[in-house]
Amino acid sequence: MMSKTATFIGMPPFPIAAKKALADSQLRGNIRNATHTIRTKRARVCAELDDFEQLRQAGADIKDDVLRNLGRYLEQVEESLTAAGATVHWARDAAEANQIVVDIARRHRVDEVVKVKSMATQEIELNTALEAAGIAAWETDLAELIVQLGNDLPSHILVPAIHRNRSEVREIFLREMGKVGMPAEADLSDEPAELAGAARRHLREKFLRAKVAVSGANFLVAETGTLVVVESEGNGRMCLTLPEVLISVVGIEKIVPAWTDLEVFLQLLPRSATGERMNPYTSTWTGVAPGDGPQEVHVVLLDNGRTQVLADQVGRQALRCIRCSACINVCPVYERTGGHAYGSVYPGPIGAILTPMLRGVGLDEQTDALPFASSLCGACYEVCPVLINIPEVLVHLREKVVDSHRGGVPGALQAAMTGASWTLAGSRRLAMLQRFAGLSGRMFGRRGLIGRMPAPLSRWTDARDLPAPPRESFRGWWARTDGGRRDAASPSGNTRNIGDKE
Ligand code: SF4
Repeated sequence: MMSKTATFIGMPPFPIAAKKALADSQLRGNIRNATHTIRTKRARVCAELDDFEQLRQAGADIKDDVLRNLGRYLEQVEESLTAAGATVHWARDAAEANQIVVDIARRHRVDEVVKVKSMATQEIELNTALEAAGIAAWETDLAELIVQLGNDLPSHILVPAIHRNRSEVREIFLREMGKVGMPAEADLSDEPAELAGAARRHLREKFLRAKVAVSGANFLVAETGTLVVVESEGNGRMCLTLPEVLISVVGIEKIVPAWTDLEVFLQLLPRSATGERMNPYTSTWTGVAPGDGPQEVHVVLLDNGRTQVLADQVGRQALRCIRCSACINVCPVYERTGGHAYGSVYPGPIGAILTPMLRGVGLDEQTDALPFASSLCGACYEVCPVLINIPEVLVHLREKVVDSHRGGVPGALQAAMTGASWTLAGSRRLAMLQRFAGLSGRMFGRRGLIGRMPAPLSRWTDARDLPAPPRESFRGWWARTDGGRRDAASPSGNTRNIGDKE
């Protein structure tokens, strides 16, 4: 059975979830502070590089080469990894990937694993699958730990707990840490250094105890089979080196052909993600090194809809994504709603295109709403380090969503478009509509705006004001003034030449 789990089950569609989020001023404040800090840093460090635009182009070109020749690179990856002593597994979907990880953990008779933050394992809901098999999965990234202890959902690719402020984090630590391991000190303050210290002590006993670790990877180098993880806290390095068994779940688009390509991405990623010149921790591992680190390494190559995205000529550029989250941090929609409203592990602009393509459109209302969760302002495209034209893909997906609902009983949008098409096709019908619009502007308009229209048009004015139509249409003015040859201001229509001095 195919299983794709890129959305949070049971979440309402974006317009409903966004309305709720917009009413939460604390959430809006937390998100605004955090995204503005990161985006300012990003802009500063990106501007330092004279060749940043060339780097972006190089990043896009390398990824496009991989996507064009994915079959060949995947074979090379399998050969390199096997030669380095790793075991390669192929997973068509979330269910297959989860089963592979559960089977390996069971074979080693463990009831817990440690995890370094991984979007791929969130996408397939690995923690839920492990829990169902009686295996606890401990998140070791600080923000992921906050989300897990708070029984919460991630709301940002890079900073999953971005919606929490530090006093909320302190409360979660005090309340929850003791239930699953070393408790936080009773006098814990909300100082970031103290919070990090509490997390470090809580996690250390788990690192030292765990036999099996699960990771994702930022890049997978085809020529050597080397996996690369970049992170800021050092937890990734602990996960990748201390346990006896390492399982890495990697999307098939994470391949780069050669080590030299990392030169491009290791400049683009930290600058775009956290506004840093380089990552604090960059870990690389190539299969098994006898007597050093995990002695059993498994790599699960995950499709889960990616080949479906690859088949979409416009949408496939989304597979270039290096999950830096720069598009999220500049998005005016995300800034106001936060990540939960998207109902997807991939929120913001990248989520609005990637999730519908991974899952397929026309299947459920929640996914179909995502391509419309954008103002199409283009800020995401301006900052994307691998030049993904997100607005172009959004428009393309909107078309696909509309097409998928053609036939059967027309929806409100389709009925409105059919009506508009009929009206615009006849000049007398259009003139009538313009007269009516001028009248409605006089009835409902206040200071040039209509704040509330009667149903069903209220669906538009519920969320935004409508500019009031002018009292007189252009066609009316043209007829009354003979194309401007008669004095427009004069009700009698005195004749005057255009350009005559007053
Ligand atoms: S779409 Fe571009 S900006 Fe957004 S997360 Fe991916 S790489 Fe970063």
